[in-house]
Amino acid sequence: MIDYENSLCEYLNEHSIPYSQNHPLKYETYFKQGGNAEFFITPTSIQQLTQTIAHLKRNSIKWKLVGLTSNVYFLSELTYGVIISTKNLTRLSFDGEAFEVDCGYPMIDLVRVTLTHGFGGNEGLEGIPGTVGGAIFMNAGAYGYTISDHLQTVTILTNSGEVLAISKADCEFKHRDSIFKKNPDYIIVSASFKYPKESTSLSAEKIETFHIARHCYQEFAYPNIGSTFSARSDFYLELFHESKTYTFLGYALKLIFKNPLSKLINRKKPTNEHLNLLALKYLNRNNDFVRSKKTLNILINNGKTDFLTLADQIITLRKKLKNDIPLENEIILAPLGGSTTLNRQITERAIAIGALNIKDLEKNTTKQT
Ligand SMILES: Cc1cc2nc3c(=O)[nH]c(=O)nc-3n(C[C@H](O)[C@H](O)[C@H](O)COP(=O)(O)OP(=O)(O)OC[C@H]3O[C@@H](n4cnc5c(N)ncnc54)[C@H](O)[C@@H]3O)c2cc1C
Repeated sequence: MIDYENSLCEYLNEHSIPYSQNHPLKYETYFKQGGNAEFFITPTSIQQLTQTIAHLKRNSIKWKLVGLTSNVYFLSELTYGVIISTKNLTRLSFDGEAFEVDCGYPMIDLVRVTLTHGFGGNEGLEGIPGTVGGAIFMNAGAYGYTISDHLQTVTILTNSGEVLAISKADCEFKHRDSIFKKNPDYIIVSASFKYPKESTSLSAEKIETFHIARHCYQEFAYPNIGSTFSARSDFYLELFHESKTYTFLGYALKLIFKNPLSKLINRKKPTNEHLNLLALKYLNRNNDFVRSKKTLNILINNGKTDFLTLADQIITLRKKLKNDIPLENEIILAPLGGSTTLNRQITERAIAIGALNIKDLEKNTTKQT
């Protein structure tokens, strides 16, 4: 048994903090990938979360915190160390004005709870499958709505172990960005929201509309973690921006396949394969590019999608997209556990053959320091 494991087991048992050892992440994660985690810790209260973090810090043990893993790639090639999940931190309270929500509360439930209390302002967030903490971390949003719109305060656990409430302004929210991305040591513990009153039936109608809209471009069959890049307008036109010919062809295909009549005819099986094939030609790639039929901007796990495939495809798209279109997904390379030498060899091999370009992926790659 590795040194730290005994003392961590002892501590977690003593404080009745749930955990599992050698936990297979591939059955846990949204992308259905990932090697084993030596420890997968699932605190059931904020107190257990802060106790766990304090113990890990005291003993200089690295960890990675996750919510519902709907924006992160864990790699099946790697064995991880300590992973903490907030999925059991789901307390929500309402005082008649504001909602106080723990970080692990699912976004899809928050949308429905606010609806049943007669509030609006969350409708476009329907279908974002993460937690409130994960959503605040990257200022998740869709259809002109973001999690930060009606946020009042965020309670955080700082690097020094202090628990404090910070204002919305302190969070420095931007498009899919916040102060938390720059300070991964900050942990979002809970948040409070105040929503405007809204007619329930109008709100429900909007939720329904956004839900249906998602079916047109969101992959539902294969495991995936949503959009790879956070394009602000049409992904294909953003991809073709350097080529007038491909931009013209892209517009033409949209006109043929995305006009109201074709949309109506294809409504039960919406696809963008024609645009995907055009994009593959543009990228000089063949049909083996692992993708959703709904969009090239969603990478799927088809059972054969490995680390090199993911990294290679992300880099291929990155090279053609404008730099100001951020990579939305995060590749987790730390903390490593198990045979660290083997893990390092895999990572180094990927870098050597150019499949993982650390510079390109730097911002969105959680690395061991
Ligand atoms: C089908 C699908 C559709 C999606 N659609 C959208 C969309 O429309 N718009 C959009 O913005 N996103 C979308 N996403 C991406 C994803 O759902 C969001 O990014 C979500 O907010 C991630 O939450 P999570 O709990 O799963 O976070 P994770 O994936 O578990 O973690 C993501 C990052 O947040 C950090 N984090 C998580 N919790 C905390 C916390 N409590 N404190 C500090 N850091 C934390 C993690 O360390 C990690 O770095 C989609 C994903 C899928 C699979």
